[in-house]
Formats: sequence, C-alpha cells, structure tokens
Amino acid sequence: MRGRIAEVFDSIQGEGLYLGEKQIFVRFYGCNLECKFCDTKLKSFMEYEPDELFQELKLYQDSYHSVSFTGGEPLSQKDFLKEMLKLTRKDNFRNYLETNGVLHEELKEVIDYVDIVAMDLKLPSSTGLGDFWEEHRLFLKIASKREVFLKVVICSQSKEEDLKKALRLVRETAPEAVLVLQPDSSVDKVYLHDKLHTFKELCKKERVTACLVEQIHKVIGVR
Ligand code: SF4
Repeated sequence: MRGRIAEVFDSIQGEGLYLGEKQIFVRFYGCNLECKFCDTKLKSFMEYEPDELFQELKLYQDSYHSVSFTGGEPLSQKDFLKEMLKLTRKDNFRNYLETNGVLHEELKEVIDYVDIVAMDLKLPSSTGLGDFWEEHRLFLKIASKREVFLKVVICSQSKEEDLKKALRLVRETAPEAVLVLQPDSSVDKVYLHDKLHTFKELCKKERVTACLVEQIHKVIGVR
C-alpha cells in the first residue's frame, strides 16, 4: 500500500490550541473539498510505503510534542493513514490529526490510534461550498472519544447565522470542546476586527468556550 505525501518536515504548530508546540508534520496530498480560502494547493507528492515513511520520521531526533498528520485531508487516504498511526503509536509518538471534519466513516476506522483531533467546522459562507452540518455532527461524535478541539476560519464573507449553527452543533454534540476562531490569513485583520468581536461575543452568549487564535507561523515566517 502506498501513500501520497506532499512533504515531511519539522516545525512548530502554527494554529489552534497547541500553538507553538514542536511537531513533525506529515502533509498528505489531496483533499475531498475545495474551500475558497484554501492555502494548501499542493502540486506534487512522493509515494511511500508506510514503513518507509515511518523510518523517515524516526530520523527526527529532537524532542517533539507529536506527529501532525495534516493535508490536504489525511482521511482521504484512510488505509495508509491507519497503518502510519499504528506504527507511530507503537513507537510512542503522540498522534495529532488535522482534518476538515467531514469523512466520519473514515474517522471511525482510525480513531483508536489518534490522540488529539484538530477538527475544522466549515461554514458554508466561508468555504463557498455547501453545508456539512450532518457530516460534522457525526464526525464530532466519533472524535469526542479522544481529545478534540474545533477550528472555524473566519473570512469577510462568513455569516453570523452559520456560526450560530456551528455553535448549536458543538453545544449539542461535544459541549466541552473548545472552539478556535481563526481569522483568514489572506485578509487584513482590520477588515475582520468587528466581525471577530461579534463572533466571539456570540460564542459567549451561546455558552461555547472559544478563543481567537491567528495562524502564527505565517506571522513569524516559519513553515
Ligand atoms: S479542507 Fe483544508 S486542504 Fe481541503 S480545500 Fe479546504 S482548506 Fe484546503
């Protein structure tokens, strides 16, 4: 079985609740979605057998918080991902899965090997796509077996009514989960200031714990 991997590198986590933690990143090639704000348009990949990639990960000698399986969408190569998660878990790596939160059937098959799920909630007004509320609900239910936090990208088109639906979903499915509001990095924050403030207040009103975290790797100029 061969996996398509766009890149492997080490750096610090640039977003979400584990901001600043040192990780090894395995970026999977390919995604099942096409979000308007996507900043990871991947053009090429290398093919690996699971053990081949695992041996490469073992060359990283530093002390790392975890291995971040990211993309693209790692779950779109579920069988390969599962083999990788098993290998890293057996070798005492902590597995951190960054995912768009839609492929719930695939998640079900790998969740036992995942330690932390960093899950997106896709607002249709932000992505320019249809809605994924039902997929997100099923996904979050499974992800809640592990540590999970949620991430919502806020851009100029993001609508309050979409955030309200997302908050209801979190409250009903995983009320303990923290929601990260992440401003779209391609937009000048000045234009998002009022919206971010309004959205943060809305989270408070709807009793969902939320924080505002921008993508710090882009600010400090690391990968
Ligand atoms: S889910 Fe992530 S990788 Fe896929 S298109 Fe959307 S932003 Fe890009």
